[in-house]
Amino acid sequence: MLKVCLRTIDDAEPWSLATYEKHGGYQVWRRILQEQMPPEKIIDEIKASGLRGRGGAGFPTGLKWSFMPRSKPGNKYVVCNSDEGEPGTFKDRDIMRYNPHQVIEGMAIAGYVMGATVGYNYIRGEYNEPFDRMEQALEEARAAGLLGANILSSGVDFQMHNVLGYGAYICGEETALMESLEGKKGQPRFKPPFPANHGLWGCPTNINNTESYASIPVILEKGGQWFMEQGIPNNGGTKLFSVSGHVNNPGNFEIPLGTPFAKLLEMAGGVREGRKLKAVIPGGSSVPVLPAHVMMECNMDYDSIAKAGSMLGSGAVIVMDDTTCMVNVLARISEFYYEESCGQCTPCREGTGWLSRIVHRIEHGQGTMEDLKVLDRAASNIMGRTICALGDAAAMPVRSFIKTFRDEFVYHIEHKKCMVNADAHN
Ligand code: SF4
Repeated sequence: MLKVCLRTIDDAEPWSLATYEKHGGYQVWRRILQEQMPPEKIIDEIKASGLRGRGGAGFPTGLKWSFMPRSKPGNKYVVCNSDEGEPGTFKDRDIMRYNPHQVIEGMAIAGYVMGATVGYNYIRGEYNEPFDRMEQALEEARAAGLLGANILSSGVDFQMHNVLGYGAYICGEETALMESLEGKKGQPRFKPPFPANHGLWGCPTNINNTESYASIPVILEKGGQWFMEQGIPNNGGTKLFSVSGHVNNPGNFEIPLGTPFAKLLEMAGGVREGRKLKAVIPGGSSVPVLPAHVMMECNMDYDSIAKAGSMLGSGAVIVMDDTTCMVNVLARISEFYYEESCGQCTPCREGTGWLSRIVHRIEHGQGTMEDLKVLDRAASNIMGRTICALGDAAAMPVRSFIKTFRDEFVYHIEHKKCMVNADAHN
């Protein structure tokens, strides 16, 4: 199977500079510097690749890069979002563990294109091993003269730093991440202004996900058209999917966008112990859950999953078999978002607490039918009324779980026990 972001993984020391260079690493960076390649040409190639942001939003990367005011005087920054806090997502962890140089090369190219001379890679607070690998890779790149001042005598400067986060989910939101990088409490900012005009320390800033940056060197090496053709129209390239839950072989799988979910499930060893598939959360815990029969007909790309009623998100595929109590799953998800709300806006601060408490009440046999209506109303009132997307992230699972698995919620209310496992949760 073709590997783009994990192309070094089968080697003995996949994280080393020597391994990366063996796979053609830093050739693109060298060529760009040598030819003083026009930034517009690079942006056009990325646009042609169809690369969409791999962190969750799926915004076209080439278009995002074109928003940066390259010639504006003063500091500009490129930032890598390696906070990866969405439950179920662990792909960026493996990119940094096994192929850290590709992230560095992608960021250096981004810095060149957008006229930024400094880059920060903000890494999730619990990711000690990936942080160490990134640090080691930075040292190697600096020692080889691939970063720093006047790189390879080109007149181009680019410094890069890794920053270990502080363990807050909300710091994966781009403006909260920048607040945190500035040494402040990690809380989202109002948008606009957007980071491209007013980002880190008020300067123009481009922020992309780890996998997005790691895709750049390969796109420029093989061509935008080549990358696009690995996937399907409007969904170019390969993508890493983190498959977890009730499968025999959980892990990260790099597959072309548009691959059938059934094929991905097969790669992950199928449903554990030969059990029946019940449901899948296809893009991280914040996106709507889909029942088995819908997922088995669905392809793994942005448009197909949207058409099926959910989102590709960060590519975290959480598989649940027929032993799963959906009320219990929702209770856990709701508690998570309640815990992680930064508390700045009332609908999120208060609403996530309501959602969590009501779902727990239903799970433990103390709910009423009125609670289902209250949950739907509360979720609707949170959506679209908050500063950042955490409000929607808390509300969407509530609405989708109740809509798709309503019979289980009603059973908990009417029988005061679980229909999947009669001894559980009471
Ligand atoms: Fe904070 Fe929630 Fe408002 Fe986001 S939506 S800014 S997490 S309170």
